[in-house]
Amino acid sequence: MIKEDCLFCKIAKGEIHSATVYEDSHFTVILDVNPATKGHCLIIPKEHFDNIYDLDGETAGKLFALATCIARAMKDALKCDGLNLVQNNGEVAGQTVNHFHLHLIPRYEGDGLNL
Ligand code: 5GP
Ligand code: ZN
Repeated sequence: MIKEDCLFCKIAKGEIHSATVYEDSHFTVILDVNPATKGHCLIIPKEHFDNIYDLDGETAGKLFALATCIARAMKDALKCDGLNLVQNNGEVAGQTVNHFHLHLIPRYEGDGLNL
């Protein structure tokens, strides 16, 4: 399902431009427009799910498998020292875009980021 007036549905359909680093029939991976560190990416399912509570298990499994591939590619390409996976659900938890997404945030020695 695609939701009208959803930013990430529009990005997934290519209606709004983003820096896409990977795409397949299920997911698009983009650079975050306001990166916490260099190379901060978002894995976005093309189908609309508000958050983890309505994400189905099959999509979750595919998404995590993709996350392992992207993580290894980021380690090789960015030479990062570590990586945080972050996933926010609900306003109180910091979710600002109500279309499920997984943050991959590369970490660098001395980057000073507090998550
Ligand atoms: P959340 O706070 O919902 O977990 O994360 C939303 C993320 O989406 C934020 O890190 C924010 O910078 C990013 N974001 C919001 N709007 C856009 C956009 O139009 N393009 C891209 N590439 N990222 C966006
Ligand atoms: Zn959406």
